[in-house]
Amino acid sequence: MTEVCSNGHTRTEKNTSWVKRGDRPGVRMRCKDCHAAHMRERRGHTGPSASEMQRQATDFLHEDIEDLLKFGATFSEIIERVGYTDWNTMQKSLKRRGRTDLLEALRAKKRAAV
Ligand SMILES: [Zn+2]
Repeated sequence: MTEVCSNGHTRTEKNTSWVKRGDRPGVRMRCKDCHAAHMRERRGHTGPSASEMQRQATDFLHEDIEDLLKFGATFSEIIERVGYTDWNTMQKSLKRRGRTDLLEALRAKKRAAV
């Protein structure tokens, strides 16, 4: 009979490690597949990582800003459209991604709006 772990991995000698118990004598079996999955999860590596998704969202946002600038939207229209509530956050975001062109254009808009 094939032994499987609680997650259904076939228990083989290769994917099982014996881990010394910290609290009492003896060892317990650890499924290496489960452990690897657990570690991946802890690092947030299941599916696209959070930072990857964030980067994509930022890209879209910056493209939006670029389009709005092209269409001649006002500073307040752009701020409203992209959903940045904080102008400082927006500046930092653009600067971080090297979009100083957009940053300068927005600053010019802002000056014109005041
Ligand atoms: Zn397992």
